[in-house]
Amino acid sequence: MLDATSKAVFHGLAQISTLQRLASKFGMAPGSGFARRFIAGETVDEAVTCVQGLRHQGLMLTLDYLGESVSSAAAAAAASADYVRIIEAIVKSGIERNISLKLTQLGLDVDRATAVDNMRRILESADANGFFVRIDMENSPYTEATLGIFETLWQQGHRQIGTVIQSYLKRSEADIRRLNTLGSRVRLVKGAYKEPKEVAFQKKSEVDAAFVDLMRLLLDEGTYPAIATHDPDMIEATKAHARARGYPNDRFEFQMLYGIRRDLQTALVKEGYRVRVYVPFGKQWYPYFMRRLGERPANVAFVLKGILKER
Ligand SMILES: Cc1cc2nc3c(=O)[nH]c(=O)nc-3n(C[C@H](O)[C@H](O)[C@H](O)COP(=O)(O)OP(=O)(O)OC[C@H]3O[C@@H](n4cnc5c(N)ncnc54)[C@H](O)[C@@H]3O)c2cc1C
Repeated sequence: MLDATSKAVFHGLAQISTLQRLASKFGMAPGSGFARRFIAGETVDEAVTCVQGLRHQGLMLTLDYLGESVSSAAAAAAASADYVRIIEAIVKSGIERNISLKLTQLGLDVDRATAVDNMRRILESADANGFFVRIDMENSPYTEATLGIFETLWQQGHRQIGTVIQSYLKRSEADIRRLNTLGSRVRLVKGAYKEPKEVAFQKKSEVDAAFVDLMRLLLDEGTYPAIATHDPDMIEATKAHARARGYPNDRFEFQMLYGIRRDLQTALVKEGYRVRVYVPFGKQWYPYFMRRLGERPANVAFVLKGILKER
């Protein structure tokens, strides 16, 4: 995790449209595109082909159709229609039925009702086809609305859904208790956005300490939690806690992002742990890609090397 200043730099860069246009031109070029390390393709067919290899390594997966923050009801409806088509394509392909999505992609910025309606449309098809649907967590202005919508859908009987809690937010212990009461699955992450100090821990040591506390709370009292991190210390702490309590490996799963610490992903599978890879795809990959660069300076060098090789 980089400090707040470095995160801010990459969030700033993500907003520059010239950079975005340049990156879009080269980033996903067939075969050699530098963003392909982190993005499984621009279409669902490309993503499906890409994940076949993961399945053979014993990894589970969740597909994320990239896109965030639409500002019109029409764009939100289009995104939900896209998701329904993606569900159909996944069913046809025979890969695991598990997707992740964001509520701003479904119209949360338009209004709550639009996002709920679009979610319902997706869940109608997802539930009928035995999918698990994870609602990703976005930045803190959306935390309460995301949890509220999640609870509404849960109360309406949608039980194959889960959401995400970020350890950098100071409110997260209370939110986990709230979700544990429902009996819903939680994915625990450190948090990917630049947040003010009023709501979020700023130091890595504080975010990590909170992560360990929340991981223990989820393993002890939660329902099949997902511990989503590439941090070897967090992973060791999780294994140690499970061992100390005598929890079986199928009480939880680890999750990691596509293209990040692939060595660790397969090593954990070999040790007998469940590991799910979050596989993003779609044309709107740039903001996601910039968040990943912001997390690790070495990724910038990796991307630059890729660009130079192309020339
Ligand atoms: C499956 C999954 C789903 C997620 N969903 C959400 C979500 O809904 N909302 C949200 O806010 N965040 C989400 N995140 C992102 C998360 O919040 C962190 O930003 C991200 O995982 C980096 O934190 P870390 O736990 O890996 O630890 P860090 O402290 O950032 O990193 C620890 C070590 O992991 C490795 N590493 C971490 N990131 C990278 C990278 N980009 N490239 C290469 N190596 C890296 C490095 O070795 C680093 O030293 C998700 C993460 C995962 C794995």
